Amino acid sequence: MSPALPDVPASDAAPAVTCRPGCGACCIAPSITRPLPGMPHGKPAGVPCIQLDADRRCRLFGRPERPAFCGGLQPSREMCGDGAAHAMHWLGRLEAATRPD
Ligand code: SF4
Ligand code: SF4
Repeated sequence: MSPALPDVPASDAAPAVTCRPGCGACCIAPSITRPLPGMPHGKPAGVPCIQLDADRRCRLFGRPERPAFCGGLQPSREMCGDGAAHAMHWLGRLEAATRPD
C-alpha cells in the first residue's frame, strides 16, 4: 500500500525497513473489509485481528488464507516509526483518510 497523506513525506528515498517484532499495529489499526478466517465479516478498525497471536505474529503468514490486503501493507519508516504508538497513530490517520464517505 502506498498511502498519500498530504503532510507525510514520500517514502521512495527511505532505506528498507523491516517489521518490528511485537508491534502488530498493522493488524490492529486498519479495517479489513473482506472476510478472513475467524472474522467472516472482516475486521473493524482498531480491533486486533483474530489471527494475531500473543507474540503479535500473524498465524496465517505464508498461507493462502492470509488476505491480500495484509501482504500489500509493507513496512516503511513513515508508517512504522519508532514504536507501536507511532504506527497506531499513523495508521489511524490513514484509516480516516481512506474511509468511504
Ligand atoms: S507498523 Fe510496521 S513494525 Fe508495526 S506491524 Fe506494521 S509493518 Fe510491522
Ligand atoms: S491476517 Fe495476519 S497479517 Fe492480516 S491482519 Fe490478521 S494477523 Fe495481521
